[in-house]
Amino acid sequence: MDDRLNNRIRQELSLTDDILLVCHMRPDGDAIGSLIGLGLALETAGKTVRMVSVDGIASNFKFLAGYKKIKQTIGENFNLVIAIDCSDIQRTGLEKEIGDKPIINIDHHITNDHYGLINYVDSKAAATAEIIAENLPHWGLALDIDIASALLTGIITDTIGFRTSNVTSRTLHLAADLMSFGIDISEIYMHALINRSIEAVRYWGAGLNKLHQIDSLVWTSLTLEDQKKTGYSGKDDADLINILSSIEGINISIIFIEQPGGGVKVSWRAQPGYDVSQLAMEFGGGGHPAAAGAMFDKQLEEVQEIVIRETRKILINNKHS
Ligand code: 5GP
Ligand code: MN
Repeated sequence: MDDRLNNRIRQELSLTDDILLVCHMRPDGDAIGSLIGLGLALETAGKTVRMVSVDGIASNFKFLAGYKKIKQTIGENFNLVIAIDCSDIQRTGLEKEIGDKPIINIDHHITNDHYGLINYVDSKAAATAEIIAENLPHWGLALDIDIASALLTGIITDTIGFRTSNVTSRTLHLAADLMSFGIDISEIYMHALINRSIEAVRYWGAGLNKLHQIDSLVWTSLTLEDQKKTGYSGKDDADLINILSSIEGINISIIFIEQPGGGVKVSWRAQPGYDVSQLAMEFGGGGHPAAAGAMFDKQLEEVQEIVIRETRKILINNKHS
């Protein structure tokens, strides 16, 4: 907790009534949970809030109260922007629209480039929702069951059910506090983490069929053809990366996902002791030491060649250190 930053945020909020709240492109549970959680809390405090996710919201988060408030485009009137879970302003997908409006940047990525007027960046937090849950009262905002449920969804999804290496006793204490609003935690697990569409599982199958391995590195690709064949309509990997990173003896896993508009999205996962965030950042992306991503404006084969070559260097360098 940072008292100085909290006072600045509280003061900035007191100066404005019209707020644009925005999360990152291809939003995950932390982005959506934080967006709804903070958005509802600001509304309860009497603010006019526009909650924006340029890529909308996946159906598995539509159990959250308030999800219908999420829009894909910005409104006209806002005096303040709060960017959530975005390590750089491009991640919002709204860089131009935001222009030179003041920004409060709330994030937990080590690769955050501090683009805001106020930057609450805590890379020790397991989720951006954890930062929000911990600090809402210090920003003069109150919690209720809907807000707590959204924030707990953010924490549970980003930690894959409290099992990533950045989970601390603080994470669990905050989760317990959120649960005490009367939340059914198994409902969150089922909706946000466990339930899968048949199309998503077939899509996993397409990726698993093409699994490659060199030493302790595994990778696969998901093509537009795989999407078509299986009927999966997301632009993401349907969390297949979590299956890859659970393979015994594997230190780094990668998925290459062909994008409908051209280009390839790359996702990395690494075991403790390996850092994929810096490599992702060198390619214009970002993330955490253990989980990172980047977008490439090239063809799949070329991206695979470059990324596998550079990722292998991390494994080789770590071996010698
Ligand atoms: P995922 O691989 O699940 O998309 O993302 C893993 C982590 O890396 C998440 O924390 C996500 O926010 C971050 N990340 C993924 N893609 C990008 C990107 O293109 N740019 C940045 N800055 N971060 C990314
Ligand atoms: Mn996050």
